[in-house]
Amino acid sequence: MAARLIVLGRQGAGKGTQCSRLADRLGISHVSTGDLMRDEIARRSAIGRQIERYVAMGDLVPDEIVLDLVASNLGNAAHRADGYLLDGFPRTLAQGQALFEVLGAGAADLAVEIDVPLEVVSARLAARRVCAMCGHITAVTRGDEARLCAECNGVLTRRTDDQPEAIARRLAHYDEQAGPLLLWLDGLGLLVTVDGSGPADEVHERIVVAVAERLPAVRAIAF
Ligand code: AMP
Repeated sequence: MAARLIVLGRQGAGKGTQCSRLADRLGISHVSTGDLMRDEIARRSAIGRQIERYVAMGDLVPDEIVLDLVASNLGNAAHRADGYLLDGFPRTLAQGQALFEVLGAGAADLAVEIDVPLEVVSARLAARRVCAMCGHITAVTRGDEARLCAECNGVLTRRTDDQPEAIARRLAHYDEQAGPLLLWLDGLGLLVTVDGSGPADEVHERIVVAVAERLPAVRAIAF
């Protein structure tokens, strides 16, 4: 049976990259609530207009809206049987409980927490830039903040939620909200914590090993 995973971690822990790689390797769909929301905002949909200010400030979007987006994206039961990886959801204990209430006990087989210290993620988010032309994501170093995109020479910009005040708020919110959720997932026997420091390739292997150890069905697919 295909794996149903939750991946958690502070903003800047490399969660987006790791989720894409893991979902590809296991052949399951990658559902990122942050991406779904940025997409709604870019399309100027009714939901997009409603959630714009929360996302711009780095505040959590109200649960009803997030739950609707996730439920419509996970589709029907047959689609869910193909497995999925939830990236950025659940973010709070209430969202975690709602997920299991709506989808039942099989909502997730395992939750992987990618653990990276607060100082490290703060510095990473402050350095993150997105190309205004091609969307390429990169990091600038001190003294090199004004450089152009290496891919297309476009101007590098900061996401509004990567402005310094927003970064501090988002990280404080994450720790506050994720704490009770992590404890709850651990109590259900679903939590595994992986060290997220070091090169992305090493973190990826650590995650795959941790998931394969806990989910025998994943072993055959991953190796
Ligand atoms: P992310 O890309 O995961 O950092 O998400 C970007 C923004 O989308 C967050 O700062 C929130 O405003 C919103 N968001 C994403 N996922 C959730 C969620 N599960 N609950 C509430 N808001 C969310």
